[in-house]
Amino acid sequence: MKTVNVHIVTPDGPVYEADVEMVSTKAKSGELGILPGHIPTVAPLAIGVVRLKKGAQTDLVAVSGGFLEVRPDKVTVLAQSAEKADEIDVERAEKAKQRAEERLRQQNKDEIDHTRAELALKRAINRINITQNKF
Ligand code: ATP
Repeated sequence: MKTVNVHIVTPDGPVYEADVEMVSTKAKSGELGILPGHIPTVAPLAIGVVRLKKGAQTDLVAVSGGFLEVRPDKVTVLAQSAEKADEIDVERAEKAKQRAEERLRQQNKDEIDHTRAELALKRAINRINITQNKF
């Protein structure tokens, strides 16, 4: 089985490295599926999940946007933050979700705060969904 080497890195350091058969994720332009030998591409990523297929197993990594760089034998994901599914703290994500929802409910919020709260809410929901296999 052909594989492609995948690295998921953040400003805090590497989060994931493996040889996988397929990478699928959501780019800003839509769903992307990458097999070994894919043509070189760069794509901005949405807040979402990166699915990494290794035989019968599929690893899931939450990413909060970033960039994907594809070469025929190597995929690099550069994300502002990324967590493997089993490293997600659900309680923390639930609290972040509640905080963001509360901020969005407040009146007289300026646009920047509103956008920040919306993004925080998306990150929290993404993390929660991944732990529940919903995405
Ligand atoms: P919070 O308000 O809980 O910090 P956030 O969405 O603002 O959430 P980020 O700025 O995206 O957090 O991430 C900061 C750091 O904390 C990153 O290293 C990220 O991987 C980690 N992190 C954030 N939320 C979680 C979580 N629920 N479980 C595990 N790690 C998390």
